[in-house]
Amino acid sequence: MDAEVVVIGGGQSGLATAYALRRQGLTPVMLEAADRPAGSWPRYYDSLTLFSPARYSSLPGMPFGGDPDRYPHRDEVVDYLTAYADRLDADIRTGARVAEVSAEGEGFGIALADGSLLSARAVVAASGTFGNPHRPALPGLQDFTGTVLHAADYRAPEPFAGQRVIVVGAGNSAVQIAAELATVAGVTLATRAPVRFARQHILGRDLHFWLTVTGLDTAPLGRLLRTPPTQPVLDDGRYRSALNSGAPDRRALFTEAGDGKVTWADGTTEQVDAIVPATGYRPDLPYLARLGALDAAGRPLHRDGASLTHPLLAYVGLEWQRSLSSNSLRGVGRDAVRTARRLAARLRR
Ligand SMILES: Cc1cc2nc3c(=O)[nH]c(=O)nc-3n(C[C@H](O)[C@H](O)[C@H](O)COP(=O)(O)OP(=O)(O)OC[C@H]3O[C@@H](n4cnc5c(N)ncnc54)[C@H](O)[C@@H]3O)c2cc1C
Repeated sequence: MDAEVVVIGGGQSGLATAYALRRQGLTPVMLEAADRPAGSWPRYYDSLTLFSPARYSSLPGMPFGGDPDRYPHRDEVVDYLTAYADRLDADIRTGARVAEVSAEGEGFGIALADGSLLSARAVVAASGTFGNPHRPALPGLQDFTGTVLHAADYRAPEPFAGQRVIVVGAGNSAVQIAAELATVAGVTLATRAPVRFARQHILGRDLHFWLTVTGLDTAPLGRLLRTPPTQPVLDDGRYRSALNSGAPDRRALFTEAGDGKVTWADGTTEQVDAIVPATGYRPDLPYLARLGALDAAGRPLHRDGASLTHPLLAYVGLEWQRSLSSNSLRGVGRDAVRTARRLAARLRR
């Protein structure tokens, strides 16, 4: 075998996993498709700040640093993850995209996109979701002749200045992007249901304080949920007031799109320049399809991140993998530690 454990993905999930595997005395090889190990954070939109304060945003073994009550900017997260990777005593290989994992003898064969091959006894899939944007069928979208840009490809509002834009979705990204675009463009937030908000501060404390002290952050509810629920939009007041002021306005999803126009539920039709689906993401695991580890919809068959099909295959960083915080900076470390312990025990057997 070339490696004891191969970790696929060098974002926060892969890095936390590599750290936890080292603590178990294992020697992971990390394969990361990009040219540096910082996950998808460098590709998130320019104005993004964390929704949790720095004190609730650390991976195991390295505090975030700086004022613990601030909400760090995207670039600070990139710097934090880069520093975390530098400190790791692990074999990190960048520019290494995994094309396929197959069962081979006592372990796995790992084929890379550049044609090279690797063998490993165990595999941890930590490749996130950002590479697999969810694009639900929106009425007539395939015939819309204006710009269609998924939130995954949105960076900044300037290219949309003066335009008429529809943002589709009711989650954090949808509302944040719509509010930002509304400073330079005419924007409607189109949703199937009213937007639900959660208050960023309750009784003078950040929501993450309450999620921690009540145990809601770590309650193992993931296995009870077949489809992860839509998270409410975290708001310190600015998004509610933006919607109340009509910039953006909110409407039920259009009934038809096409030829540079959309038609609304009341029958009115208008010219639109761009539609931005901010409709979320799905697990990005195409390299496991032929292994038989996924269901028909491409979702991993697992319990708490342990594969139900292959005992030495695991997942880290899935949404609701174990709990509400599983796919966040503050929570992924706990799942990584649990996964590393389980794999170490199985490898020793
Ligand atoms: C817009 C946005 C804002 C968010 N804000 C927050 C926040 O404020 N706080 C918070 O805690 N969480 C936030 N999250 C959720 C989550 O923390 C991030 O999505 C985080 O990037 C997930 O980390 P990850 O390591 O699981 O996946 P990613 O960061 O996506 O990293 C996966 C890595 O795997 C690599 N990869 C993929 N496929 C392959 C392959 N076949 N071979 C090799 N490498 C591969 C990718 O190149 C990537 O580097 C946010 C998510 C989004 C989309």
